[in-house]
Amino acid sequence: MPLGTLNAEAETVPASLQHLAANPRVTVRRNGAPKADGACVVYWMQRAERGLNNAAVDCSVHVANVLELPLLVYFSAISNFPGANLRHYAFLNQGLPDIEADLAERNIAFVVRRPPGNSLENFLDEVNAAILIGDESPCREPERWRTVTARRIRVPFWTVDADVVVPSKVFGKAQYAAHVLRPRLHRELPNYLHALQNPRAEHEWKPPKNFDSYPVTSDITAGWKKLDRSVKPVESFTGGSQAARERLEHFVQHVLPTYDRNRNQPTVDGSSRLSPYLHFGHIGPLEIVLAVNAAVSKNPSLAKPRDAFCDEILVWRELAINFVKYTPAYDSVDCAEPWAARSLAEHAHDRREWNYTRDRLERGETHDELWNAAQLQMVNYGWMHNYLRMYWAKKILEWSASPATALEHAIFLNDRYELDGRDPGGYAGIAWAILGKFDRPWFDRPIFGKVRYMSGGSTGKKFDSQGYIRLVRANADSGKLW
Ligand SMILES: Cc1cc2nc3c(=O)[nH]c(=O)nc-3n(C[C@H](O)[C@H](O)[C@H](O)COP(=O)(O)OP(=O)(O)OC[C@H]3O[C@@H](n4cnc5c(N)ncnc54)[C@H](O)[C@@H]3O)c2cc1C
Repeated sequence: MPLGTLNAEAETVPASLQHLAANPRVTVRRNGAPKADGACVVYWMQRAERGLNNAAVDCSVHVANVLELPLLVYFSAISNFPGANLRHYAFLNQGLPDIEADLAERNIAFVVRRPPGNSLENFLDEVNAAILIGDESPCREPERWRTVTARRIRVPFWTVDADVVVPSKVFGKAQYAAHVLRPRLHRELPNYLHALQNPRAEHEWKPPKNFDSYPVTSDITAGWKKLDRSVKPVESFTGGSQAARERLEHFVQHVLPTYDRNRNQPTVDGSSRLSPYLHFGHIGPLEIVLAVNAAVSKNPSLAKPRDAFCDEILVWRELAINFVKYTPAYDSVDCAEPWAARSLAEHAHDRREWNYTRDRLERGETHDELWNAAQLQMVNYGWMHNYLRMYWAKKILEWSASPATALEHAIFLNDRYELDGRDPGGYAGIAWAILGKFDRPWFDRPIFGKVRYMSGGSTGKKFDSQGYIRLVRANADSGKLW
């Protein structure tokens, strides 16, 4: 791991912690020395919801051990997380027992709080924290929480970029396209493709009498009156690090060998389906890539599918994160490249043969059976196949009054129903489909202008589309597709 340059704010970090603050994954958001009479180190777990293979936990353990203090992991279950509904909270809830168990193995306490007793500032005072460590999440609102926290609290605050392989600040600015990021990312990989050590905390934290922590197996949404409960939990995915590791094992053994051929076949178990786990941080990309590389070491014939998979989980995923981190307008038409913005504007008044309301789209009531099945897969199973996601978003552009309306509808539906929604991957994917982001100009045509088009006829011929429609419809009642 190379030593990064300490950012200016890190200059007052005490000498004993400087080597930790200099790690390129770490950003010192509030500088200074840990509180001298502090009683513990607190890791505020928000994005990286796992107890193992989490660089933010490792960093917190190192800091705690240097300071000879115990480590507490604090999880605040807020009732108004932007766009989250019962489906998302149920998946998150399923992950909490695994976090507690994995942290306990490392001698780390796990504390869950809910509103109204979940103020982070109050918690830091209550446990007399010496320093606060957090993780990173590039989307607007979570990033704002971190900025506000850094201003408000009175102890130092660092964040650790735990859910990417190469820390996103290494690239320093928005990367124009995959072909621009790819060689840069591959140059950095040897520095970061190393297993995390999962160190143990040396000092145990003992809760004071009557200390309040919400039981991890209880329903964290109990009593939340304003929560949108209309989007039900799904049976197709079970949340948690344990389930994520099982899925990874299944993927490496049974799916990886044909990934390069089957990834675009929506009727088969052809991709990792790890995106919900990655979104909630129940597993990190480093663990996945290392597992896939280990499989190639044993069986070199897996190198080709491994390369195809790594292009997705490394290049495209980290491009999406880079996009959201460095593009303030990541969820608006303002993020379109100038060529696409110009071209879409030239076609603003083209006649739309179909112009569906958001309600009709949501109910999957269009003239296009393949599109309806894709929508149904998302609504009933919480996950849509990648190939259909592209088609789905392109058709929303074709069937909406304007690109801005199309973007709004696509983001709304994607964030509402996908377990992996509300994620950089969604904002980047939708911007790719509707605004030509990361793509090149194609032939000019109605509505789309030079933005790449996908026709129902040719999409339907690239895989067994009738089989896909039957599969999705046949299992709709059970909510369990595979
Ligand atoms: C319109 C549209 C909407 C999308 N919405 C989301 C979303 O809300 N959340 C989300 O995580 N991804 C989204 N994607 C990207 C991609 O479709 C999903 O990540 C992928 O289908 C998840 O399935 P998987 O885990 O089996 O992927 P695999 O093929 O197994 O890939 C492994 C991992 O790589 C990452 N990945 C794969 N493809 C992409 C991609 N094109 N862009 C960025 N990362 C990628 C994901 O983290 C994925 O889990 C969207 C793409 C489009 C075109």
